[in-house]
Amino acid sequence: MSRPTQIIIDLPAIRHNCQIAARLAPHAHVVAMVKADAYGHGATQVAKALEPQVAKFGVCCIEEAQTLRQAGVNKPIVLIEGCFSAEEYQLAAQINCELLIHTEQQISQLLASNSAFRFTIWLKLDTGMHRLGIDIEKTAAVVQALQASNKIEKLILTSHFASADELNGSFTSQQMFRFEQVVSKLKALNAGAFDISLANSAAVLAWPQSHQDWIRPGIMLYGISPFSDQQQQADELVPVMHFCSKVIALREVKQGEYVGYGNTWQAKRSSVIATIAAGYGDGYPRTAPSGTPVLIKGHRAELAGRVSMDMLSVDVTDLTAVEIGDHVELWGAALDVNEVARFAGTNGYELVTRMPPRAKRFYL
Ligand SMILES: *Cc1c(COP(=O)(O)O)cnc(C)c1O
Repeated sequence: MSRPTQIIIDLPAIRHNCQIAARLAPHAHVVAMVKADAYGHGATQVAKALEPQVAKFGVCCIEEAQTLRQAGVNKPIVLIEGCFSAEEYQLAAQINCELLIHTEQQISQLLASNSAFRFTIWLKLDTGMHRLGIDIEKTAAVVQALQASNKIEKLILTSHFASADELNGSFTSQQMFRFEQVVSKLKALNAGAFDISLANSAAVLAWPQSHQDWIRPGIMLYGISPFSDQQQQADELVPVMHFCSKVIALREVKQGEYVGYGNTWQAKRSSVIATIAAGYGDGYPRTAPSGTPVLIKGHRAELAGRVSMDMLSVDVTDLTAVEIGDHVELWGAALDVNEVARFAGTNGYELVTRMPPRAKRFYL
């Protein structure tokens, strides 16, 4: 038997989660975000599974787009940070990418490029996140320059929310208000036709006014809620990544003895410790402290001591009949990755995205 550490990716669950996005925004088209190897789920497999039901894919760079093209993905691919150099425009045209533009430098490069290709351009406006995007004051001039050029097939005005996961906050409304003001101004100037795209997963789930023409769901496709509290729509998502292993050793530890590196966990009573074949070398976060939940044959138990590279230890004293070979879920169907993430001081996005190649993926 080989090492039992596995990542099982439930592709039908991804399709289900994508249907939820489409159902919530029935008048919008779906751009499935598959950047960073589809948040660690395998971009090729995820894109192939979703291609029949989405309009486009979103990736971070041309290398990610090339990977999808080599795998036979044909739908348009949006480069969500645009091109990084003047040479990339030609290549982006060859493999049918759409370009996001967020700086005036990128506009100059596009207008100067000698490709005859007409791109669909996603013009990003900075409505308050202050990470990427054109200053909203300059939008009209920029739109007019783009519309007057012969480089554009279609224009999509876009912006990104800083805190759409905060359901009671006012910042998302403020960002939408700033965006609407720009749109009114462009309409008053007769600045030509354009589509609008604002919504990430949190906005798809909780801010229907943001849906507009194109939604850009990411994390929700992978069955992970972007919210820290329960939310009605997010509760329908089905987890996609199941991170599993097995018990490979069991021992009794006397009261007062320690477990693991650094002796950080001490037995308060005579205890039973199960050793699991999964560690930070497999993507389990080393920052997860003692007490983090782990499921053994479906029952909750607590991490005991530091996570090692290849193993972790669990206090199974209160579980009956644990045996070597028992199934362990680190996160997945019955243990929300967001819960493990909270213990580890991060979020579900990071945990699934940083899974290393050593942990083999199996696709349902
Ligand atoms: C990653 C990303 C998204 C998706 O965000 P989620 O929170 O994962 O839904 C949407 N739009 C842009 C521009 C992104 O970079």
